[in-house]
Amino acid sequence: MSGSLVVVGTGPGKSELITPATDAVLAHATDLVGYGPYLDRVPCRAGQRRHASDNRVELERARLALSLAAAGRQVAVVSGGDPGVFAMAAAVFEAVDAGDPSWRELDIRVEPGVTAMLAAAAEAGAPLGSDFCAISLSDNLKAWSTIERRLKAAAEADFVIALYNPASKARPHQLGQAFELLRGVKAKETPVLFVRAAGTAEACVVSASLGAADPSCADMRTLVIVGASTTRQVGRWIYTPRSERGAAS
Ligand code: SAH
Repeated sequence: MSGSLVVVGTGPGKSELITPATDAVLAHATDLVGYGPYLDRVPCRAGQRRHASDNRVELERARLALSLAAAGRQVAVVSGGDPGVFAMAAAVFEAVDAGDPSWRELDIRVEPGVTAMLAAAAEAGAPLGSDFCAISLSDNLKAWSTIERRLKAAAEADFVIALYNPASKARPHQLGQAFELLRGVKAKETPVLFVRAAGTAEACVVSASLGAADPSCADMRTLVIVGASTTRQVGRWIYTPRSERGAAS
């Protein structure tokens, strides 16, 4: 039987946010490849092999998955959220790009999933209701100067900005630096949301103004959303009106 490789995402956390298409891939796979904590979200099935690895070895993990598929296995590469957003799908294609030319003939597919940004926005209301962008604050794979350039451009263009990877133990200061930079362009009243564990039973939303936002509110399980000039509060919700003329009257 010829092998296949499907890259899937398990959504933000709770099992109801795993799509039925992803569930079907997980049920049929002979081999699951992924970062340990993401694999732990997938129920064990008899006869299925698990290849758990550390978070930082994405290309190695992608190459392992491709070799298994080339050997005839039905492989699922498991990411959190959506596999195409700061996750394994691009790593798999990078490995194909630099790897054995025969890998280009493999049956490779990507299944979409619910990314953290969407789950986080839904916890708070509709902050992504108008034009938005997503920026990862991790400088493991890009220079901090690149991140600063993109933050500034996004702020100047008045996008709502979703910040992935806002902080980690190894990078505690970057979110503070990002807020400083954004304060130079956006108004200090701009709403900022810290959404932790979005789409899970432990979900928690903290809202602040950009002027007063405390970077220590974020950790590795937090998605930070910085509003546009039109982003506003109504009751306990935050939303960005679809029209740039502002809220309906
Ligand atoms: N592929 C994933 C993102 C991986 S980057 C996706 O599509 O969601 C990891 C970052 O995603 C974390 O540092 C955090 O900023 C964000 N994240 C992932 N799950 C989250 C959740 N349940 N709640 C809030 N943020 C989350």
